[in-house]
Amino acid sequence: MGTTHNYDVVIVGAGPAGMCAALYTGRSMLRTAVLERGIPGGELLNTEKLDDWIGEKSILGWELAKKFEDHSREFGAEYVTATVTAVTRRLDGTFDTVTDVGDVYRSLAVIVTAGGTPVKLGIPGEAEYAGRGVSYCAICDGAFFKQQVIAVVGGGDAAVEEADFLTRYASKVYVIHRRDEFRASKILQERLFANPKVEVIWNTVAERILGDEQGLMKGIELRDVQSDATRTLDATGCFVFVGFRPNTGIIDGHFDHDEMGYVLTDSMMQTSIPGLFAAGDLRSQLTRQVTTAVGDATTAAIAVEKYLKARAEGGHAVDPHGSGGYAV
Ligand SMILES: Cc1cc2nc3c(=O)[nH]c(=O)nc-3n(C[C@H](O)[C@H](O)[C@H](O)COP(=O)(O)OP(=O)(O)OC[C@H]3O[C@@H](n4cnc5c(N)ncnc54)[C@H](O)[C@@H]3O)c2cc1C
Repeated sequence: MGTTHNYDVVIVGAGPAGMCAALYTGRSMLRTAVLERGIPGGELLNTEKLDDWIGEKSILGWELAKKFEDHSREFGAEYVTATVTAVTRRLDGTFDTVTDVGDVYRSLAVIVTAGGTPVKLGIPGEAEYAGRGVSYCAICDGAFFKQQVIAVVGGGDAAVEEADFLTRYASKVYVIHRRDEFRASKILQERLFANPKVEVIWNTVAERILGDEQGLMKGIELRDVQSDATRTLDATGCFVFVGFRPNTGIIDGHFDHDEMGYVLTDSMMQTSIPGLFAAGDLRSQLTRQVTTAVGDATTAAIAVEKYLKARAEGGHAVDPHGSGGYAV
C-alpha cells in the first residue's frame, strides 16, 4: 500500500525542463516535488559537450546537469527518485501523480517534463544486442567503437549528424537509408557527403542484427527494397536514429496532441487539461534544445503560480497581455 504526499505542484522528470521549472516554482514558495526515475539531468547526461548554452563557450553535459540540479535545489524543491506511471485529474481539479510502487503525489497542478524515447527498428536481434553493439546515442556510446566498422540507420537530421560525428571514432561508417535521398537539412548532408569515412547505402533496410558466440553484434542483414536482394554487412555497431517518441503515456485521459503525439499547449504551456502543464522535449514545437526546454519551463512555472492564484480566488484569471486565461 503506497503513501499519499501533498504538494502545491508536482514536476514529472528532472531533465533541463523539470529542473528549471523546479527552480521557479520553489522560488515562488510553492511546495514542489520533482519525481525523476533516474539521476537528475535527462538528456544532458547523454550529451558529451554543449557549445550552444549561452554564456558558456563549452560545457560538459553532466557538468551543466549538476549546476542545474544544485541551483534548483537552492529554492526548496524536493527531489524524489520515482517512476511515474500515471497523472490523473480528479473531480475536484487536483491531480494524483502515481508511482510504480503505488505512492501518490497529490497536487494542485502538475508540470510534465518527461522528454522522449528513441523509436526502435523492431527487427530481430535489436533488443538482444542493445548495449552489445546496438545503440541509440552516438555521444554516449561512440567512443566504444574506436577503429571499428559501424552502421547508422536513418535519414533525418539526427542520423546524418550523428553519422558524421561517429567518424571521430569509427574507421568506417555506413549509413543505411530506405529511400534514395535524405530528409536531413542540406548543410548536414553536405558535411556527411564530404566525409571520406562515410558510405551511404541507399534504398536499403536493416532486417536483422546478427551476433557472435560471445553475444556481441557482428553484422546486419540488409535488404535492398528495389531488388529485394539480401546481404550481410559486417559491422560491430548499429546506431539507430529513426525517430523520437514523446513520453506522454503517463498522461491519463485525453489531451490534445499533434500528429506525432507531441503535447499541444497554449502560450502558457497549459495542456488541454486545466492545471496540467507541459514543457521541454515532449511538447509540440519547432526544435528541441536545452534553451527551448528551460524557456518552456520558465513559462510553465510562472503560469502555474498564476493558475494557483486564480484557483485560490475561485475565479477565472485572464492574462493581462491577452494571451489566454485559465479555466479552473
Ligand atoms: C545525444 C544528444 C545530444 C544533444 N545535444 C544538445 C546540445 O548540444 N545542445 C542542446 O541545446 N541540446 C542538445 N540536446 C537536446 C537536449 O538534451 C534536450 O532538448 C533536453 O534535454 C530536453 O530537456 P527535457 O527536460 O525536456 O527532457 P529530458 O532531458 O529528456 O528529461 C526528461 C526526464 O524525465 C524523466 N522521465 C521520463 N519519464 C519519466 C517517468 N515516467 N517518471 C519519472 N521520470 C521520468 C527522464 O528520466 C529524464 O530525466 C541533445 C540531445 C541528445 C539526445
